[in-house]
Amino acid sequence: MEDKTEKLTIIGSGPAGLSAAIYAARGALNPLVISGREAGGQLMLTTDVDDFPGFPEGIQGPELMANIRKQAERFDTRFVNEDVLSVDFSKKPFTIKTETKEIKTESVIIATGASAMWLGLESEQRLIGRGVSACAVCDGLFFKQKNVIVVGGGDTAMREAQHLSKVCAKVTVVHRRDKFRAQAALIDLLKSKDNVDFMFNTTLEEVLGEGKVESVKLKNTESGKITDMAIEGVFIAIGHKPNTTFLKGQLDLDERGYIVAKDEIYTSVDGIFVAGDVQDHKYRQAVTAAGAGTKAALEAEHYLENH
Ligand code: NAP
Repeated sequence: MEDKTEKLTIIGSGPAGLSAAIYAARGALNPLVISGREAGGQLMLTTDVDDFPGFPEGIQGPELMANIRKQAERFDTRFVNEDVLSVDFSKKPFTIKTETKEIKTESVIIATGASAMWLGLESEQRLIGRGVSACAVCDGLFFKQKNVIVVGGGDTAMREAQHLSKVCAKVTVVHRRDKFRAQAALIDLLKSKDNVDFMFNTTLEEVLGEGKVESVKLKNTESGKITDMAIEGVFIAIGHKPNTTFLKGQLDLDERGYIVAKDEIYTSVDGIFVAGDVQDHKYRQAVTAAGAGTKAALEAEHYLENH
């Protein structure tokens, strides 16, 4: 693998990267996917997926990703199950260094996604997928007529709370300060809902429950008082972080680290394409990422034909 120059290397193996692989493989590009140690992306953290077309009864997130990967393998996609450590996009062929390999490639699709930020509590991590979530659109329906909290004070938290207010009995937004960071319009919309409450100057200290979430320990940051609240769902909405650390200085990134792209596909370097959440902070859906991966693969094929 080290001695030859790849036609196309895809970095990332969520819906964007694997859809790009299916199309590129069927286009005879024999793509190499660097899948990363957290292969499969955010869907690996989701239980039932009810909004990916083609699965009338829904499908488990990890099963969906395993299926898409098998489909990519069926058409001669090769995988390197390692993380990318660094890239050199300053000269062609481009160079990608993984933990054990140095790959030369004529073109690249970056589909490394974004990761939801977590508080980092041990109890939060243990109960992800068992009542703790970072995606209301993905998991909200599991909390139909139940009580949930949303942690955060930015636009994402307001959007998550708004979505949940349509299905849950009660939504409590828990924010660490006395003032939200979110846009006024989003806050006003939430305030108009009868089933939404707000708790300011409050931090989440612990999530309690064995197999599933049963309650939370909350701390008032002014009085220091700890209270227990019975609850069935905990949504962490403190932002997403695009996985672009290894790209700094190589591609144009915006101030939040997202890849700047023309038409959502073309990066600042000719021959390097992008797909999915690493560029898209608006829709962030598996199916939009899959669509973006498809477009990037078709553009990469076109690029290789012309170079
Ligand atoms: P954000 O604006 O950075 O807000 C993150 C929120 O989480 C802040 O309120 C922050 O508290 C809180 N937070 C961060 N770390 C925390 C911690 N460890 N413990 C407790 N709370 C913590 O992130 P975002 O809401 O995801 O928005 C990101 C960007 O996307 C923004 O530019 C936003 O406008 C945009 N966006 C837009 C929309 C839209 O509908 N237009 C929707 C989603 C996102 P502090 O306030 O105390 O810092």
